[in-house]
Amino acid sequence: MMALGAMQDWTMRITHVVDHAAREAGDREIVTRWADGSETRTNWAGIRRDAKKMAQALLALGLKKGDRVASLAMNHSRHLVSWYGVAGMGGVLHTVNPRLFDDQLDYIVNHAEDKVLIYDAAFQSIVDRMRSRWTTVEHYICFDSGEHSPAFEDWIGAQDGNFEWVGGDERDPCMICYTSGTTGHPKGVQYEHRSTMLHAMAGLQTTAFNFTPSSVMLPVVPMFHAASWGLPYSGGMAGIKFVFSAVNDPAVLHELMMREGVTDSAGVPTVWLAHFQYCDAQGIDLPPLKAATIGGSAAPKFMIERLMKNGTRVQHAWGMTETSPIGTVGGPTADWDSLTFDEKVAKTMKQGRPIYGVELRIVSLDDATKEMPRDGETSGALQIRGPWVLKRYFKAEQDATTPDGWFDTGDVGVIHPDGTLQLTDRTKDVIKSGGEWISSVELENAAVGHPAVAEAACIGMPHPKWDERPVLFVVKKEGTDCTGAEITEYLADKVAKWWLPDAVEFVDDIPHTATGKISKKDLRDRFADYTLG
Ligand code: AMP
Repeated sequence: MMALGAMQDWTMRITHVVDHAAREAGDREIVTRWADGSETRTNWAGIRRDAKKMAQALLALGLKKGDRVASLAMNHSRHLVSWYGVAGMGGVLHTVNPRLFDDQLDYIVNHAEDKVLIYDAAFQSIVDRMRSRWTTVEHYICFDSGEHSPAFEDWIGAQDGNFEWVGGDERDPCMICYTSGTTGHPKGVQYEHRSTMLHAMAGLQTTAFNFTPSSVMLPVVPMFHAASWGLPYSGGMAGIKFVFSAVNDPAVLHELMMREGVTDSAGVPTVWLAHFQYCDAQGIDLPPLKAATIGGSAAPKFMIERLMKNGTRVQHAWGMTETSPIGTVGGPTADWDSLTFDEKVAKTMKQGRPIYGVELRIVSLDDATKEMPRDGETSGALQIRGPWVLKRYFKAEQDATTPDGWFDTGDVGVIHPDGTLQLTDRTKDVIKSGGEWISSVELENAAVGHPAVAEAACIGMPHPKWDERPVLFVVKKEGTDCTGAEITEYLADKVAKWWLPDAVEFVDDIPHTATGKISKKDLRDRFADYTLG
């Protein structure tokens, strides 16, 4: 027999996290502001107690190990209970994004073969609409009480909580999230207990979320998207106080942040945009947060600057559903104290450095076997590997990785000598002009700096001589005006001359995906007949 070491068996199951939180930080509060305006308070001990009851209730419904339970819900304490309760009965929680289109909702619930679906009353209309199409769902439970039945609290309330977690292998699945690509059906990414545990532990690094015992986190990133960046697990490990809001109204978030002593928050850039607008309209200061993690899409310069001037550490994070999701975080680097404010802002605009546990590399866009240098200049297709990176999509027949285990992210970027990742595009969107690559994202980021530009999207249009040339689509800010020539002139000192768009087109709106990102595919479809004149 192969010799093993002499340490204890300790299966990495995520129920350990809630056990730890309840034992070591049992009275740290979990506050929820519900959609109807009411508020409840529980704590880590309460979350564990309810998760045990929920696990019992699921088994009482006849669920078996490995069965999928869907949640269609915003951020709140009962959703948190489900994260641990489903895993605690050996099940797999499928967090469904309520913003998906009906055909996607149909596909993912049937594909995951969800047996139970637990939903917020706010999404009753989705349930009513989709019920006949969701053929595998046997039980519907509502997170809210009131006229909806059965209500979550009553359902778990029938159990006594006297229950041993269902055990198993640490490589068992515990959660599944679907990622809706731009083409084809959404794909399921199934996280394991072990991968989730390692990812959450990595999230505790000082270069990642950097929680302390006094951290109070209000995560705006939804629990239905990319495992809420692993925060419900990292937060449990650190025993922090959570403040959840089931609505994303900036007035509500602001009031909660001020009243509950929130120190940390996390969300996509638009969350901060809305918050800035709210504070400006009210003539009030931003909340005094210690740290704001921003990811999902690039955080613009003015946002980083404003938060940093407010004394908030900005942690610009990159990741994707397939990477659990954290890949890189932009915490302070070794040279941080010697940098000027502007240099710190410039560094924070990049996507940060890999947290311990994952490796990054870039390969040539023309030849994926050729690794590119980490010189801060050469761009390439970004690949990642590590224990919380996808190997194979749910029910897929083949691995999604290269033979040497790298997952191709579909992102394009450069890696700087100090390991900092700077994303420049998506492989599908980067524009090939005369054999050279133009970053559509850099053009967009530069264009939104123009005072009259509300939103900009750049796509490559076919060109007889150059293969493709950039065309910039712009939505003007209300009450402003400008010409295409003015925008090109504005860009002239910000990007290389040969990058300047061949045309600037003004549009009323730019299409977005269900997760709020610019949908270049829809934009291309909309302008399929476009010709460069
Ligand atoms: P999703 O799986 O829906 O979370 O989307 C992941 C994708 O979002 C990545 O592949 C990137 O293209 C994009 N993304 C995530 N974080 C960032 C970031 N900090 N800056 C720019 N793009 C990002």
